[in-house]
Amino acid sequence: MKRNDQKHACVTGGAGFLGSHLCEFFLDRGWRVTCIDNFSTGTPDNVFHLQNRDFEIIHMDLTNYIYISGRVDFILHFASPASPRDYLELPIQTLKVGSLGTHKALGLARAKNSVFLLASTSEVYGDPLSHPQREDYWGNVNPIGPRGVYDEAKRFAEAMTMAYHRTHGLNTKIARIFNTYGPRMRLEDGRAIPTFLKQALQGEDLTVYGDGKQTRSFCFITDLVEGLSRLLLSDCHNPVNLGNPEELTVLQAAETILKVTGSRSRISHLPLPEDDPKVRQPDITLARTRLKWEPKIGFEEGLRRTMIDFQNRLSETEESSARS
Ligand code: UDP
Repeated sequence: MKRNDQKHACVTGGAGFLGSHLCEFFLDRGWRVTCIDNFSTGTPDNVFHLQNRDFEIIHMDLTNYIYISGRVDFILHFASPASPRDYLELPIQTLKVGSLGTHKALGLARAKNSVFLLASTSEVYGDPLSHPQREDYWGNVNPIGPRGVYDEAKRFAEAMTMAYHRTHGLNTKIARIFNTYGPRMRLEDGRAIPTFLKQALQGEDLTVYGDGKQTRSFCFITDLVEGLSRLLLSDCHNPVNLGNPEELTVLQAAETILKVTGSRSRISHLPLPEDDPKVRQPDITLARTRLKWEPKIGFEEGLRRTMIDFQNRLSETEESSARS
């Protein structure tokens, strides 16, 4: 039954890894949720379990005109390939959804007078010359390198979001999301954590790129979703970093995965991809002070929770290939 005071959120990219967790989070709070996705990197499997709730899926490409009937209180714009493997394979789609898709999503927010939250990224800092990264650092991005398609699309999306805020007074927020992991990441996603976990569980070598001394800071999904919901309801219009400041080398991350899974896999090294950032760590002072938020789940605990989901999906895949 529809209640008048029930909030309605639209999540673009709602069938992706982050988007599906967000949809679930808002449904659990009694909101109505509409998921918009073209299933280019997301999958209906991620939201299948939500189908009997106050939940609707619209299969749509965001770069076309978006029509949603009725009131929309919140628009969370998460549609985009996010794994380097995906955006290297889909460079034009990545640029289009970050530019044209963001324009359409902002247009919808303006028409509905919705609160708008943009999923931006630590990639706007590129290969950073300032460490840890604070929101007032402008970044070091190669616009024409292979990662430029994602970095520049997100930088444009931030600029467009601020323009709608300043010009039309739209109530906008920008989350700069640092590396996040958790259940539902695709087994073939290509990013470090799902790749290493799958390799460790299958007894294959863990493929560390370069010498593995490059750093990342990995945030567990439930912590990120809590931060996003606080930002959505805040009055922060400038970008806010959301991530876990616990910084690890990629080699340390791989070794921790071997420990947590109890795997006897070995580590092998492959060439470092072009423009791979050498360091990355969020300064989350702003989120701590303005949102009263900080991550709670440590790396080993988050890995244990993610591993259970990976084990289940890997055994389903094995069973179905044994049947066929
Ligand atoms: N990486 C790796 N092996 C892999 C996948 C990634 O060593 O199989 C490295 C990658 O080169 C980068 C870090 O792990 O230094 C994180 O990569 P990811 O693709 O997860 O995301 P990024 O932070 O680069 O966007």
